Order: sequence, then C-alpha cells, then structure tokens
Amino acid sequence: MTNSEDLCPCCSGEKYSKCCKPFHEGILPKSALELMRSRFSAYVLNLPDYIVATTHPASPEYSEDKFSWKRSISRFSKSSSFQKLEILDFKEKNTVATVVFTAYLSQDGHDATYTEKSYFEKASHKWLYRGGQLVSGHAPNLVTLAQLKILPLAYYGDPILRKKADVVTDISEEIKKLVEEMIETMDAANGVGLAAPQVHHSIRLFIIRTPLEKEEGKFDLGDVKVFINPKLSLPSKETWVANEGCLSIPGIRSSVERPKEITVEYTSLEGTLLKSRFSGWEAKVIMHENDHINGVLFIDRLPSKEKLTLSPLLEKLAKRMHDNLNL
Ligand SMILES: [Zn+2]
Ligand SMILES: [Zn+2]
Repeated sequence: MTNSEDLCPCCSGEKYSKCCKPFHEGILPKSALELMRSRFSAYVLNLPDYIVATTHPASPEYSEDKFSWKRSISRFSKSSSFQKLEILDFKEKNTVATVVFTAYLSQDGHDATYTEKSYFEKASHKWLYRGGQLVSGHAPNLVTLAQLKILPLAYYGDPILRKKADVVTDISEEIKKLVEEMIETMDAANGVGLAAPQVHHSIRLFIIRTPLEKEEGKFDLGDVKVFINPKLSLPSKETWVANEGCLSIPGIRSSVERPKEITVEYTSLEGTLLKSRFSGWEAKVIMHENDHINGVLFIDRLPSKEKLTLSPLLEKLAKRMHDNLNL
C-alpha cells in the first residue's frame, strides 16, 4: 500500500496524493498523458479496477470476463517489481493521442523492461487506453517526429456505419489530408483497408493496403491504393470463403463468401479515372470496403445460421460500446 504522502509511483516526483491518487479515486484525467501515468501507477499499486475502467471497449485487451481480466492484471502487478517510468514522447490531437514510454521493471528477478507506443481515444469526455505497440527494452526508435494523424474510429452501433455515403465531387486539399490521416489510422490499427465512414466521413472513398505474399506464408506490406467514387461490376461466378474482420467491429471475425474477381471503375487521388480487374485478397478487401460506403457490414453477408450464432456477441459489443462511449 502507498501512503498518500509517499512519492507517486508514476515517477512524477510529486506526492501520490497530489498526483495519481485523485484519478484512482474517480477524478477524470485531463490529458492522455495523465491517464497513461495513472494507469502505470495503478499497475504498481495493483489496482485492476482502474485499469479495467480506463480501457477502451475496442481495445484488444478488453474482455467481457472482468473477473479473469482483473485477476490477470493483479497477477502481473504482483509478479513485477517496477523501477521507473520514462516518458519518451506525447502527442495529443483533439480526441486521439499517443504516448511513447519505457517501463523499467523486472519479473522473477529477470529484466522485463519494455517500451510501448500506446494509443488513447477520448470518448464522452473520458480518455481511454486503446492499445499499443510493444518492444522489449528501451526503444526510443518508437518515437516518430511526424505530427499525429490518427483519427477516431466509428464502432458498431454508430449510425454513420449504416448510411449510404455521398459522392465525392471535388478532390480537394481536405480530401488529400483525410486520405493521409486514414492511412496512418489504418496502419496504427494493423488494418488492410479503411473506408471514410469508419472515420466519421460519409463519403464514397476507401483505401486498401493489401499484403503481398513474398514467398509461401510470408507477407510484405503492399502499397496503399485509394478508391474514390468506385463502381463495382462483373463479379466472377466463382466465389471463395475466407475470414474477415473489421476495425469497426472489434473482436469479431467470420468466414465470408465473396466473388473471386471483380472489376472496379474509380477515380484515383490524382483525379484520374481508372478501370481494373482485381482478384483474391485484393478483390475481397475492395468488396468489404465498398460495402462500407453503402452502409453494409461483413456480418450482413453471413449465412443466417452464422448470424444467429454471432448475434449475442454483437449485442454485447453494441452494449459495451454504448455504455463506454455513450453512442
Ligand atoms: Zn502519479
Ligand atoms: Zn470493415
């Protein structure tokens, strides 16, 4: 237990009572950095409830099974000996933020120091931890000089995901900026495609970054392709089934049957009208993203039996998004 007069475990040099304690008692942190520090001290002090309450419902760490989740946080706290927190970088823009930090700790006598580039999203006045990229040891290379361009995502239950999006009439500077931000948002979430409605812009535009298979089972990140006002035609009769997931429907994946090939007429970001035939994964990602601009989600394309199986999971997801984000 920490005495309120002790120094705060977040290494701010302040007394715990003047630093992270008010947050642990229910005061909302004003910045993502304050949240990050108070989460670190919650790990040090073994306060699993605080970690759970400040985790975004779309975070990969989020679990419906709160009991096991809290128990594993507690186990991590008890088995770790925390030495120091070092903040390497902090960027905040409106409702998104990144903090790069190194947490110096050991576990069972072994060094377990790691550096994390963590993402935060603000939802209904509350900063929440969204996820992070972890590297072991002290890794200042996770700090990028570029300005923060990540956009907040729209999640399952948000009405914008069900709207038919509007035609793009002019490839303005704003559209170019939006595409840049969409690329960073997609990459930060390890996505292979992202449609404008998923970042709260109801326009007919999506991007894809198809993985390129170098050799059997090994993939390289492909180039980004931008599709504006796409028109899909001539789907092949031959179909195939493969797993799909969606950044707007976190934690849910399912097999979707789609045509193997498709023709797409679209405008590029440079304003050129193009027409191409796509196949395999690339065609699949294009069809998934094109569905988004028509208000369709991959879960709509599942056989009714599968839909029935998924429906309690989707209900839970909609509820946790609603409860945490006040959609
Ligand atoms: Zn503190
Ligand atoms: Zn999607």
